[in-house]
Amino acid sequence: MARPGILGVSAARLHDGAARSFETLRINRTSASKPQGLSFSGAAAASVVSAVTAFSAARGTTLRSNLRARHVAMAQTIEANAYLKAKIEEMVALQPVMVFSKSWCPFCKKAKEAMEQQGIRFGVCELDQLGSEVEAEVQDILAGLTGARTVPRVFVGGNCIGGGTDTEKLAADGSLKKMVGEALASYKNKVSGATSFELEKSDEEWLSELDSEKFRILRRRGTEPPGSHKYDKFLPKVGHFSCGGCGLPLYSASSKFASTCGWPVFDKCYASDDVGQHVMGQPDGSGALEIVCTRCGSHLGHVFYDSVTEANPNGERH
Ligand SMILES: [Zn+2]
Repeated sequence: MARPGILGVSAARLHDGAARSFETLRINRTSASKPQGLSFSGAAAASVVSAVTAFSAARGTTLRSNLRARHVAMAQTIEANAYLKAKIEEMVALQPVMVFSKSWCPFCKKAKEAMEQQGIRFGVCELDQLGSEVEAEVQDILAGLTGARTVPRVFVGGNCIGGGTDTEKLAADGSLKKMVGEALASYKNKVSGATSFELEKSDEEWLSELDSEKFRILRRRGTEPPGSHKYDKFLPKVGHFSCGGCGLPLYSASSKFASTCGWPVFDKCYASDDVGQHVMGQPDGSGALEIVCTRCGSHLGHVFYDSVTEANPNGERH
């Protein structure tokens, strides 16, 4: 698909087709328009964590198989590393302001506070929540990209502006605000050039199909109050969640996870040959990454990268 998805950047780069944050959905256009009672077949691809586990498990075999295992493990490690690099570049590309930080680090705290004081919104990846092996790898990758291994590493409009002291300094003399403004304006331009969808309807048509609350949320980028959604605490074992606008299946039951944020959350969306990724990300112009239905463009919420667990190594929270 030409349209960039949330993982469009890395999906295009990972020639093994192993972009991890979506699962394959075998479905055709006819059945996609009738969402009720559909079955799905989706399998999350191997994760970075499992590649790392395989690396350790590969040790301790006989010499011959050990060599073979080492070869496989090396390939897996290289693949995991390339994947992590693509993932980091993607976060930098999709977030107007992106901070790689450690949750306990006072310098990171300073940088974040300096930005918060100026009302600057930013994406955060807390490296200490990635597990020590991945944390070290990410720092190596950041060193390669920015010349420094230390945290925080702060990116504005895709460029590294430095660490905590640099961020504070740029915030104090007003140049940070200006840089962020320029980055947001450039993201806005990108967004306005990419908003045509397969299913286009006028507001009148949408209003005739949706109740006023759904219209406000899906078509006017509205937000429900936290804890109010009927699916917030709903964790079914089977089935899937579909777009409230057009019925396109978006997330499997297994991609939904418990969260305390007050809204239903998922760690990966569907992808199919027919549609590409069923959910696409676009900067919303305010510094956050909005997610919309790939088919009809209805607003679904935002994506954050702060939910790293063993089961969700990408840390995505949709
Ligand atoms: Zn839709």
